Amino acid sequence: MTTLTTEHARAWADRFVAVGKDRDSELTELDRKAGDGDYGTNLRSALRRVAANLEAGPADSPHAVFLAISEAFLNTGGTSGPLFGMWFREFAKAAKDKPVTATVLGEAATNAVAVVQRLGKAEVGHKTMVDAMAPAAEALTAAAARGADVAGALAEAAKAAHIGAASTEKLLAKRGRASYVGEHARGVIDPGALTVAYFFDAASH
Ligand code: ADP
Ligand code: MG
Ligand code: MG
Repeated sequence: MTTLTTEHARAWADRFVAVGKDRDSELTELDRKAGDGDYGTNLRSALRRVAANLEAGPADSPHAVFLAISEAFLNTGGTSGPLFGMWFREFAKAAKDKPVTATVLGEAATNAVAVVQRLGKAEVGHKTMVDAMAPAAEALTAAAARGADVAGALAEAAKAAHIGAASTEKLLAKRGRASYVGEHARGVIDPGALTVAYFFDAASH
């Protein structure tokens, strides 16, 4: 598939909603160990809004699907809600009125992580969602440059995001609530980074 179809975008969003619900308690447990324990609740309410937005429609283009996701997260509390909202907003912007190729996804992901970093001031290695977003953007861009199709590029992004999320386990946090607990956060994967990996998984599972 050389461009992202509306059907694929819808299925991706639906699977993300489902995966978020499945992983709710796992993600909350991570935030309980290294934060304030509300991560899964925040994600659940965002995903409930995603489902409602998609239902209300019209989610008749990849742009509209990404916008529905973005607006849901922007209206959700916690640090993660607005940051994810702004991240997804770049995918919506990139998809507006043009075919979504692997190259477009790479550009979107690159702009998106830059926006999150501008707002949250997190670098790679600070144990945040950025640790999965940045490698995913690089993987999408590299896959597109090699001529990968959308599905192939998204699979590469998922792989890179999982490696990035796993890398947060050994880190001390420099941003967010996990940075308040010092050594207690070591050994705990960042739930925001793991959510990014689940999002890209949802493109193909
Ligand atoms: P809160 O800490 O306000 O309860 P959440 O539990 O909703 O927020 O979200 C926590 C997640 O937000 C973390 O797992 C991390 O990925 C992300 N995060 C926190 N601070 C930042 C930041 N400054 N930049 C990027 N991501 C951040
Ligand atoms: Mg929290
Ligand atoms: Mg909180």
